[in-house]
Amino acid sequence: MKLRALLPLAIAATFAISFLSQAQGADPIQRLARDIFQQLIETNTTESAGSTTAAADAMARRLRDAGFSENDVKVLKPDEDPRKGNLVARLHGSGARRPILLIGHLDVVEARREDWSTDPFRFIEKDGYFYGRGTQDMKDGDAIWVTTLIRFMREGYRPDRDIILALTADEETGKLDGVDWLLRNHRDLIDAEYVLNADSGGVVTDKGKPVNISVEASEKIYADYQLEVKNSGGHSSLPTPDNAIYHLADGLARLEAYQFPFESNEVTRAYFREMAATQSAQTAQDMLAILKTPPDQAAIARLDADPKYHATMRTTCVATRLDAGHANNALPQTARAVVNCRILPGHNREEVRRKLVEVLADPKIAVRYIDPAGQLLDAAPTEPPPPKLTLRPDIMSALAKTAQEMWPGAPVIPEMETGASDGILTTAAGMPTYGISGVAIDFDDIRFHGRDERVRVQSFYDGLEFCYRFLKVLTSEQ
Ligand SMILES: [Zn+2]
Repeated sequence: MKLRALLPLAIAATFAISFLSQAQGADPIQRLARDIFQQLIETNTTESAGSTTAAADAMARRLRDAGFSENDVKVLKPDEDPRKGNLVARLHGSGARRPILLIGHLDVVEARREDWSTDPFRFIEKDGYFYGRGTQDMKDGDAIWVTTLIRFMREGYRPDRDIILALTADEETGKLDGVDWLLRNHRDLIDAEYVLNADSGGVVTDKGKPVNISVEASEKIYADYQLEVKNSGGHSSLPTPDNAIYHLADGLARLEAYQFPFESNEVTRAYFREMAATQSAQTAQDMLAILKTPPDQAAIARLDADPKYHATMRTTCVATRLDAGHANNALPQTARAVVNCRILPGHNREEVRRKLVEVLADPKIAVRYIDPAGQLLDAAPTEPPPPKLTLRPDIMSALAKTAQEMWPGAPVIPEMETGASDGILTTAAGMPTYGISGVAIDFDDIRFHGRDERVRVQSFYDGLEFCYRFLKVLTSEQ
């Protein structure tokens, strides 16, 4: 790769020193990162009892102590709830290129002491792991962003573009999502050419051995719909063919049988192409066969059996809630269901609502969009679809180069997030967003939102080193 030759020797020397001291466990940067990680874990940021403002204030103090000016470090909180503060910090560059924005959420999912073997809000190092709520999702990433900015500041590093960091509230629960709130209220502070989100992507390992590095380069769109059938009801001893529950149930059966069409995009095509190299013969063949024009239908059908591949190839809609009737001895007057859809990029929520009406094929079933505030709308908003994400060559080559140094031989695999993260908001706001993290998690040790959440000590430090190198490549080479 050409970029490698451009890497300044000074940086290469720093790497060597860092590796040496890492082996001795005495690296001051690692100690700093560990302290920050501990402080974040031990600052409760749950919806019920915590405060992201407390965590944001603590990080602001650390950045100011490291030399960031008052003006470049802000804790911004919504009037509605001062507990839901967000940190925005800026490391100034030469301005040769537009800024990049780093995002991470500070809030964590609830955790109860009695469910855990350790106190979830105490940072505990045990058997080569750090334990605590947020060690995987995602105070590890927050601590790494903050430490790396402090490291850059200490070195007097001047990137060729501003690096902005936003650590935010309410990604997991709560109604004041910090990324959304900053976009609405302080867009100027976080405006950037593109965004890196440490909440998705990452290094997949098998018992600590690297398997691949995944980068999230696209996201499905989340949408809830309410299905409702109304009926005048009556006495259950005198049933009629016109029954609210049967109308709804028959419609849901038609939905169950329906498949949204197969589609691919630049990101999912790259995903299947790269994944094929890591799969057994039949699956590998199928992954390549669906990339042909026209795609191989039998291969699609076989891959559909795996929920992850299925969700990567199609928009999905599934019934998630059901509620009907008001008495055991009465004909139902109301029957309702909620259908949750995950929509492929390039389509909008109203298009899918109309598709549901068509598939349910019963004028008695009203289909309404449920907006994020829980309001029912007869039609979904038809915001223009977010720009189609492409795999930016500058990011992909910086990632490939850094990953190759850190985890030689492990392929970089682009992925479309089938769930949802804050990345969808920044992408929709015109700032293409990539989920990238250098923290490795064993594929069978995924514990976020669960009990005894933990991350390998060495994985955390490797993620720290990865972040430093990766950001330097992104901000120092033209
Ligand atoms: Zn998260």
